[in-house]
Amino acid sequence: MQIQIIKCLQDNYSYLIIDESTLNACVVDPSESKPIIDFVENNNINLKYILNTHHHFDHVGGNKELKKRYNSNVIGFKGDKDRIPEIDILVDDQNIWREGNFEAKIYHIPGHTSGHIAFHFFKEKKIFTGDTLFALGCGRIFEGTYEQMFNSLKKIKTLPKDTEIYCGHEYTLQNSNFCAIYDPNNLQLKTKIIEIKKKIDSKLPTVPTILDDEIRCNIFLKAKDLQTFSKLRDLKDNF
Ligand code: ZN
Ligand code: FE
Repeated sequence: MQIQIIKCLQDNYSYLIIDESTLNACVVDPSESKPIIDFVENNNINLKYILNTHHHFDHVGGNKELKKRYNSNVIGFKGDKDRIPEIDILVDDQNIWREGNFEAKIYHIPGHTSGHIAFHFFKEKKIFTGDTLFALGCGRIFEGTYEQMFNSLKKIKTLPKDTEIYCGHEYTLQNSNFCAIYDPNNLQLKTKIIEIKKKIDSKLPTVPTILDDEIRCNIFLKAKDLQTFSKLRDLKDNF
């Protein structure tokens, strides 16, 4: 299974998960169709599935056009069936979604939106976290409560430490500045920030990140209780 990172809009990431044996692929959160179509056509990919982490426009904007063009199936959270465009297959918390060689466990991780989910490709140890967990950050709480977001992050924290995290946006540099202020003595964070800056300077994505690094460096995953987490989330909203 190969992952192709595709930049979309301003700072979004869509991902193609490609089964090299068949060239069948899933796209995660196609913000827009054009960059996806370009890659698919240039590489003879069969775009079979569209996986949506949540209903926001910058994650589903390409659904309609891609489905029309490739007859792909759209997979999303059952509770969001009325707001994910062109949805075909409804999934729920803890379901295993399986098609061909693709196999992912669904986690319902509300907070950013009430119907946010993550797709965990557990055999490959990769998770697509949308706008819930970012590299060195977490999503804004729009529809849920602080407690929901805190618990959603906790669920992700229990996955194997070497899990690769693919998130919805390139927000890492800005997130790292925030972490550095509130966790000034974290040497691992300092090292990580140097690596992040190198990547940004070379115009390379800072994703994927590794769960173990996030647990040690992401201030939102380090928050020891709900109160600390909520305070940090408020501070970040005004950062
Ligand atoms: Zn969003
Ligand atoms: Fe987003």
